Amino acid sequence: MARRALVVGSGGREHALVRALARTGWAVLAAPGNPGIAADADVRDIPMSDHDALVALAVGEGVDLVVVGPEAPLVAGLADALRGAGIPVLGPSAAAAQLEGSKAFAKEIMIAAGVPTARSTTVTDVDAGMAAVADYGVPLAIKADGLAAGKGVVIAQSEAEAREALVAMLDDAVFGDAGRTVVVEEGLVGPEVSLLAISDGTAVARFPAARDYKPIGEGNTGPNTGGMGSVSPVPDIPDHLADQLVEEVHRPVIKEMARRGIPFNGVLYAGLMMTPGGPKVLEFNVRFGDPETQALLPRVEGDLGEILLAAASGGLADSPVPVSGEASVAVVLAAANYPGDPRTGDVITGIDDALATGAEVFQAGTALNADGELVTAGGRVLAVQARGVTLELARERAYAGADLVTFDGKQMRRDIAAGMDG
Ligand code: AMP
Repeated sequence: MARRALVVGSGGREHALVRALARTGWAVLAAPGNPGIAADADVRDIPMSDHDALVALAVGEGVDLVVVGPEAPLVAGLADALRGAGIPVLGPSAAAAQLEGSKAFAKEIMIAAGVPTARSTTVTDVDAGMAAVADYGVPLAIKADGLAAGKGVVIAQSEAEAREALVAMLDDAVFGDAGRTVVVEEGLVGPEVSLLAISDGTAVARFPAARDYKPIGEGNTGPNTGGMGSVSPVPDIPDHLADQLVEEVHRPVIKEMARRGIPFNGVLYAGLMMTPGGPKVLEFNVRFGDPETQALLPRVEGDLGEILLAAASGGLADSPVPVSGEASVAVVLAAANYPGDPRTGDVITGIDDALATGAEVFQAGTALNADGELVTAGGRVLAVQARGVTLELARERAYAGADLVTFDGKQMRRDIAAGMDG
């Protein structure tokens, strides 16, 4: 009988997970899913916040593995609840998820583990914050400690901007409790890279390096988004360098967490900046990245579910996840007005045409309207992904697919993975 997995979440990352599992014969359940996921999985309309119902579903269906997509349910303890019911789950406990849930905690772990990261000071009032600002000089980063839906980091170009950010977070509580503690961090420069690895608490299996594109505009201009595209591999981070980064970053963190009695089981995603002074960690995430996952998982060779299950239940091989040598590019199509309040309800056409080219289409912010038409229902609507023997070929194929998908107000960067081939 086919193995059964439950994927928790409703975005493009979860659609990519569902497809990667289904491709190797897993029967997949998803909650709450989206219309794209519903084509590949048995979707149940259970909100991610309803842990009791998710545990009941996993137990009732006898699933072999649960993969939790987003960070919020992990920080809220969903993995603990599932493990408590005897279900193997890829995702850290609430305590271990603090690596993403608290930037101050992540800094503490990095310092204890000797992991290279920007100098920083953790503060709870504006005066202390401004003292740190004077110390580091601008530009620098002001970071809300807790989860702020990806909006909690301000790069301040002047002392006035730094003060404004500190006051907004600490005095005006724009991020609520997430901003009651703030990390003031020295400004770094250099190319960024995402290096994801999975762990069973001891072993570390990395994926190849990936890069995402945060700003809405070409040439990395305009406001930040959740991510407008992604690519893997990253030519400046070859495998031997990725291996070295795992030894300098992921492994010491996994060891330090175990030493503290809060073993880390799940995806440890390091957001790194390759500075002139060497690689430095900007942040940890405790789950797959979105949209890096949409580029990474189509490269995985063999049974992804088996690897994730080994991470969830112990006995993970301490070696990189096997991947195809082909490059992979994912281009995000966003709705009108994103990253502001996105317009919804625009009818989407051309997905079948894009699929017919051999591209993958991972849905994120989509819904069915009263007439049964697929419409936009969120900022990032979907991602079109393709592989190729070179980055340029993968890029051409991804854009050929992406050009076939249309809806009013469609926003798409034309420069995802551009100019990387050497
Ligand atoms: P984070 O969520 O901590 O990764 O920060 C979001 C983005 O802010 C990063 O992807 C960087 O582009 C930028 N950033 C974060 N920390 C710094 C820093 N210390 N210096 C310069 N840029 C930063």
